[in-house]
Amino acid sequence: MVNIMQKIYAVCEKALQTGDLSKEEILLMLNCPDENSDIIFQTADIIRKKEVGDEVHLRGLIEFSNFCRKNCEYCGIRGKNKTIERYRLTEEQIVDTAVKSEKLGYRTVVMQSGEDPYFTASRIAEIVKVTKEKTDLAVTLSVGEFSYDDYKIMKDSGADRYLLRFETSSEELYKALHPDSDFRERLQCLQDLRALGYQVGSGFMVGLPGETMEILADNLLLLQKLDVDMAGIGPFIPNEDTSLAGENGGTLINALKAVAITRMLLRNAHIPATTAMGTLDPKGREMALQSGANVVMPNVTPQEYREMYLLYPNKICLTDDPAHCRGCITGKIHGIGRTVSKDHGHTLKHR
Ligand code: SF4
Repeated sequence: MVNIMQKIYAVCEKALQTGDLSKEEILLMLNCPDENSDIIFQTADIIRKKEVGDEVHLRGLIEFSNFCRKNCEYCGIRGKNKTIERYRLTEEQIVDTAVKSEKLGYRTVVMQSGEDPYFTASRIAEIVKVTKEKTDLAVTLSVGEFSYDDYKIMKDSGADRYLLRFETSSEELYKALHPDSDFRERLQCLQDLRALGYQVGSGFMVGLPGETMEILADNLLLLQKLDVDMAGIGPFIPNEDTSLAGENGGTLINALKAVAITRMLLRNAHIPATTAMGTLDPKGREMALQSGANVVMPNVTPQEYREMYLLYPNKICLTDDPAHCRGCITGKIHGIGRTVSKDHGHTLKHR
């Protein structure tokens, strides 16, 4: 044990200087006994402070449709789930929610949905265009896989950023979990987004059934290879309406380790403390913010629709109104000695 800890201390020491860590070094940290993992979190926190500072960026999350044509095995809003009520905000409601978010002090909104055929690239582009005309918000889209030409239509309308997680770097596991998607196509989408000038976010789930520590290390290295502007990592939480209902979920500690190592590898990327971490532990998001994260994405979706966007169970803040969320999260951020950013929080990468 002493020997392992000495090696982990040495890797952390190295990580303070460089993000050039080997797979073996990453595996050492992933396999660090949970009770001794603080050194990994503290190291990531030092790098976070040096690379991106103490400010936390808030992104207002608008979940505007829970219709989806796909059937990802882990997802509560997969198309074949007949037990949930479906909803779709109107174009006006989406823009209106964005306008209200800006009034609450947000500088970015994330417009997210399932892969809903109603929302074509042109419809989404129009929503972005009107939002940009009415506000000074940065707009992030998280609406799934489209063709290069469709991504271009949305980019030309003013969209700044795009989130598309690869979820796992194992092609085999990806195939097992995504009956309607292809791993190579997903990577192509990420390349297209980058080529079009989006600030690109990607990421993965921790603890998917069939995931090994080797795969988790490869997930981290793939994020680094993609050189993403934003890296979203959350624990897998089994949903009872899916085929993975009886599986074990990912643990908070492993998700925190993944966040910390992401900070070591990607240096100045934006990394959210995800809602899924807050679901596993009331202090989960604060713990992530102290382990390398610098972004929080409070839900600004109108209250009456929130319970219908259940990707996983027991999601937090479902009954809180957006103004309450804004105040609550600001209190949590101040509580750990950090500040809320007043700027757009664009990428810090220079390309
Ligand atoms: S993960 Fe996304 S694409 Fe897959 S079923 Fe859920 S909403 Fe649809």
